Amino acid sequence: MPIALQGEITIVRARIATVEPSEGGVVLRIDGRRYEFPDAWALPGLVDAHAHIVGLGIAQREAYLRGAQSKDECIERVGAMLSRRGDWIVARGWNHELWSPPQFPTAADLDAIFADVPVALTRVDGHALWVNSRALDIAGISETTSSPPGGAILRSDDGKPSGILLDTAMEFVERHIPPLTATDVEEAILAATDLCSRAGLTEIHDMDVDPTNLPIFTNLAEAGKLRCRVLSWVRGQHRQWHRAGILPTVGQLHRVVGIKLFADGALGSRGAALLDPYFDDPTTSGLLLLDRDDMISHIESALEDGFTSIAVHAIGDRAVRTVLDAFEEIRLRYPNSDDVRLRIEHSQVVHPNDLLRYVQVGAIASVQPIHCTSDATMATRRLGMRTQHAYRWRSFLECGVVLCAGSDFPVESHDPLLGIEAFCRRTPPHSQNPWHPEESISRRDALDAYTIAAHRAADTNYRRGRILPGMDADITIFDRNLETCHDSEITQARTFATVVGGTLYMHK
Ligand SMILES: [Zn+2]
Repeated sequence: MPIALQGEITIVRARIATVEPSEGGVVLRIDGRRYEFPDAWALPGLVDAHAHIVGLGIAQREAYLRGAQSKDECIERVGAMLSRRGDWIVARGWNHELWSPPQFPTAADLDAIFADVPVALTRVDGHALWVNSRALDIAGISETTSSPPGGAILRSDDGKPSGILLDTAMEFVERHIPPLTATDVEEAILAATDLCSRAGLTEIHDMDVDPTNLPIFTNLAEAGKLRCRVLSWVRGQHRQWHRAGILPTVGQLHRVVGIKLFADGALGSRGAALLDPYFDDPTTSGLLLLDRDDMISHIESALEDGFTSIAVHAIGDRAVRTVLDAFEEIRLRYPNSDDVRLRIEHSQVVHPNDLLRYVQVGAIASVQPIHCTSDATMATRRLGMRTQHAYRWRSFLECGVVLCAGSDFPVESHDPLLGIEAFCRRTPPHSQNPWHPEESISRRDALDAYTIAAHRAADTNYRRGRILPGMDADITIFDRNLETCHDSEITQARTFATVVGGTLYMHK
């Protein structure tokens, strides 16, 4: 049965009461009031299953370096915005893979323009920090500072810190950057959820949430100000949720459902943990940030605290295998844990022997289709022949793995249409040719990944993800049929309106 429909949908007290298909457009009756959308099509509300809401809101305000074609362009953009936190200049989004040559920048590049103020610029994937000498001084990082476990201080030929910090080494500097104020965070959440709503999203799975931000989400939800439902997976790498005393919560617009852990870093900075060394740097196979036993003990504490979902970031095939090992042990120790959703965020490089293990341990693959098309060139450099094991969407579905989708915004655009297109066409920007087209998926499977499967990943599929009587009234109304339109039309679709729990938001 198709999931896009035209006809009359009656909504009573936040739920869908009746659905009467008919041609010509969509009519909504919400608690007695009638709204007409001629020629439009309704889809179950789209979900972004992996995103960073505060990050997107802040990116609207602070210099954002995504897409910058050179380090000079980054430095220019930073100079133009001068986005500050206290004395610090901060920004994010640079990607040296887009530059020629694709080399990490250095502190000296920044020192030439910013000699006296500390500068900290986060890489697009959040796994590397580019700082100037002033920032290195403030953080006390010198020639004699050794790299921390799970991180690296990169050095130039003379042995001095080069100005690039990877993964846990970033914390040396980050702890000196003044935090955002509660007002900054509130404004960021409102800006981000408004953008998402206009792009057709009705629900966001917010990952790696800072525990101090949770009350701000709750207050906004209770005041009816969130235009999308928000589900939070709280930061857990150092048991932050536990130390902050965070427990699961229930609510219509905001719920705290799980914790988020990191098994490794990212491919771009060679922090993703691979089973074999990197193709373009045989001296390293990446970093595992948590081993199996630590992962198990974190997950056990989260389950004891009553959380029903565990999301673990794993990009490299070694990290994915380690997470599967941990999940397998959790399922053995908790034989009645069927209602616990175990998710592997990104699931980018998966060894063939591990595909079926997702099904065996009940792990959900949470992927970001635009990562594949944006990173195809870089992934080829990093992985060589192993790219055939990367971004294996169709293989997941053929094995029966639940595949849900998100954008990882602000790492990538929050627009779900870009992700749906990437799922189906798998074609990098500026290229005519699909990349490993054997792993592309059908339109219907792509839409399911943004709807019903995303709800399975949050255990809400019994009440969300389809336009059927009894379901929550979460609906997105587009100007065309996204289930059947030509591939080339997907990203041209316009959102007319979204409905979240029966509340209508008009977008055009
Ligand atoms: Zn993320």
